[in-house]
Amino acid sequence: MTQSNLMPVRAALEYILEHISPLGSETLSITQCLNRVLAEDVIAPDNIPPFVNSAMDGYAVIAEDVAQASADEPVILRVIENIPAGKAPQKKVRSGQAARIMTGAPMPAGATAVVRFEDTSEAASVAELKPDEVAILRPVSPFDNVRPVGEDLKAGSAVLKKGHRLRPQDIGILAAAGQGKVLVRRVPRVAILATGDELVGIDEPLSPGKIRNSNEYTQAALVQSYGAEAVMLGVARDTTQDLKAKLREGLAQGVDLFLTSAGVSVGDYDVVKNVLAEEGEMHFWQVAIKPGKPLAFGIIDGVPLIGLPGNPVASMVAFEVFARPAILKLSASPVWEKPTLRAILQEDVKNSGRRHYMRALLYEAGGEYRVTTRGSGVQVQGSGILSSLVWANTLVVVPNEITFLPAGSRVEVWLLDWRGEKFPTEIT
Ligand code: AMP
Ligand code: MG
Repeated sequence: MTQSNLMPVRAALEYILEHISPLGSETLSITQCLNRVLAEDVIAPDNIPPFVNSAMDGYAVIAEDVAQASADEPVILRVIENIPAGKAPQKKVRSGQAARIMTGAPMPAGATAVVRFEDTSEAASVAELKPDEVAILRPVSPFDNVRPVGEDLKAGSAVLKKGHRLRPQDIGILAAAGQGKVLVRRVPRVAILATGDELVGIDEPLSPGKIRNSNEYTQAALVQSYGAEAVMLGVARDTTQDLKAKLREGLAQGVDLFLTSAGVSVGDYDVVKNVLAEEGEMHFWQVAIKPGKPLAFGIIDGVPLIGLPGNPVASMVAFEVFARPAILKLSASPVWEKPTLRAILQEDVKNSGRRHYMRALLYEAGGEYRVTTRGSGVQVQGSGILSSLVWANTLVVVPNEITFLPAGSRVEVWLLDWRGEKFPTEIT
């Protein structure tokens, strides 16, 4: 197959996403909602804050009373009350009076501003002051150090919109708005199935021709890192019977997506391909991607299946490019693009007609982001070399139409260690 017959990455991804629908919803306590996607708009039932309150520890005063105050000529006021946070004021502040007030305490009637302790006799000694008096050393304007009702959120306004992925601060604002339970999207359950006669488990001894199954563990960790649940089905041998049994096991567990690794390329023993073709409606693509050309996608008994390549690096790159967006769509995440930034490439890079996701190290130097595809003594770009992904923190994306990138080019970089969503393109 020539390079031009290869399926473009974008087309393969679009096909996959077209055949995946977001999962249903459930109502949960907000203590269980971190990283979940909201399935409803949440409206603030009350104003936050619900009452006018002080933004400082200080004295609630009538601003006009202290308009001429200075350190040399302080204004002396009589303290009529002490208002801690959580208590309602009992008295009205009249001209010549002040109330000692703590941050978050309700403003007393009559007062229009708060003078912070630092600008009063609390912080400086003032001669001839009676015990119930305070000296004000600086003027304030009306509303200084006062938080109005609804400053944070107005009653009836949207706290958070449907489709938003909940971060710690979002959980906090839901609590502030009195929303102990919310409707969120279900977590996708993703079955992970490694295939191959050469694979042995972590604890098993290595006999001739065998290697340890690492893909299953990388994939499970990736699934978890994108907020989904990994259902580990173990290893299926390269036999029809074994593969079918494992698929049935996954279906019985009610999984939402299958991820398999290996057996979908052009090798003699790639029975995975044949079995999948018998079990469901499958496509076997040669994608214009490097590493990892072979990719399978189809539906088995109503459950989507993505067949990732077997080489450990290709398998993880294909996960990031194809499986990650599928998982995000299942969880109804509004965005699935990887967050990217531009960095200065440190060496010449050649490309041969496929979209190349090159393992790279991003670093900051000279006030800019720089990126290198060469590690010290590490042969980084072989698709079986997992240690190079351990070294890397990013992928440099080289589009298929670009055959040469000179050192100094500004290149697109995928942040591998960044779990968040894409940065916004406009300020809201
Ligand atoms: P295949 O796609 O079956 O031709 O496999 C490609 C390469 O990936 C081979 O070298 C396999 O041994 C290797 N491989 C397949 N599955 C795994 C796995 N679960 N863990 C590590 N390496 C694997
Ligand atoms: Mg194989």
